[in-house]
Amino acid sequence: MRDKKSTLPLKKAMQNIKINKFGGASVRSAKAIRDLLAIIKSIDGKQVVVVSAMGKTTNKLELLTKLWFDGNSNYISIFKEVKNDHLAISAELFGEKHDEIEHTFDALFELLQKPSSLDYNYEYDKIVSFGEILSTKIVAKYLSSQLNNVTWLDIRTILKTDQIFREASVDWELSAKMTSKTISFATTDIYVTQGFIGSTKSNLTTTLGREGSDYTAAALAWLLNSESVTVWKDVPGIMNADPKWLENPTKIDKLSYAETVELSYYGAKVIHPKTLRPLQQKGIPLYVKSFLNPTLQGTEINNLHHKHNTPFYIRKENQVLVTLYPQDFSFMEHHNIQLIQGILSEYRLQVNLIQMSALSFSFCFDQSPQIWDALKDALSNLFRLKFNTCTELITIRHYNEDAIERVTNNTKVFLEQKTRKTVQFVLEAKR
Ligand code: ASP
Repeated sequence: MRDKKSTLPLKKAMQNIKINKFGGASVRSAKAIRDLLAIIKSIDGKQVVVVSAMGKTTNKLELLTKLWFDGNSNYISIFKEVKNDHLAISAELFGEKHDEIEHTFDALFELLQKPSSLDYNYEYDKIVSFGEILSTKIVAKYLSSQLNNVTWLDIRTILKTDQIFREASVDWELSAKMTSKTISFATTDIYVTQGFIGSTKSNLTTTLGREGSDYTAAALAWLLNSESVTVWKDVPGIMNADPKWLENPTKIDKLSYAETVELSYYGAKVIHPKTLRPLQQKGIPLYVKSFLNPTLQGTEINNLHHKHNTPFYIRKENQVLVTLYPQDFSFMEHHNIQLIQGILSEYRLQVNLIQMSALSFSFCFDQSPQIWDALKDALSNLFRLKFNTCTELITIRHYNEDAIERVTNNTKVFLEQKTRKTVQFVLEAKR
């Protein structure tokens, strides 16, 4: 964990509390929220329900923030669209005006009438966090109308973070203190709370990075010593390939934390990468299940070792492959490597693969038009440079010959790297 280290005891008795996390797609309509109720009802014991913003709300609020910050009054039409979406869902669920939602939109509108500060990220967190506040208010009201002892919780009262707006890290110690002060299941059976958001010591709203609700669920599990976390998705579990890319992927039944961290590292969109560490630390299992077919078994991630016979395919598109050669008679040794690494960190480049030989240094990274020209200039001042754009990086974990053939067949391979468990290829992108 990059986050501030905790000195709290690691092993505390597990509590009979389950964390259930629902992403945007699982709360995007009144029907979806009714289906969510059925899932919650089927689970016994105390629960914390962590909810993301509805549907594509976060994308819309992101755009609204950008326009508003730039002084473009078109933000108002997005405001209206988001408001109408939420009021329509509320009306369908409650058949009446939902005052709290109206008031929340009034508060957002009021905020947008004030001049912005100069800190975009700070303003972003203040505005975009409304998505989760709104969705949880609707879900909590609906669950309360059908079940006893449901409490809406503003997670900002317990999940405390640093001040890195848009990428905040959890302050585990302070959050643990606030959690034990605030959370009590004495009269509550189900807490409904927000994913993705938190707040600083001085109560400024922060966010944990896009798709951060999985991480919130894991943080709450850690803070409450929960029995399990379930992330409800629109897929049957973790699949061994993206179905939009490779046909007939297989669902993986069980994965270890370590294997899942590796898969995320190579770019598999299985779970938010920060999610695993808090769970691993306390041995809390994570289930990935389908909200469309809740009775299916899904995938279980735990600390056991599982044998993997099924290859796992991961594809990163839009890669640039660069190969550098010394301009003089030197080898690719310490001094040259240091020069390259200095430039790469100056440009904050996320490098996905590196390969070296006596006379060359190759690496590939996510294409980013904003920095590519400047980076190319900086590198070619010091090295001879060759590059290929329009490439993709394919990783196969637990590979075999058939799996390799499946992805490299009839495709130009620019680079290959193999270890015992993993093979990676930089390939010409198929159009
Ligand atoms: N609503 C946030 C997003 O769309 C967080 C999440 O869904 O996990 O990124």
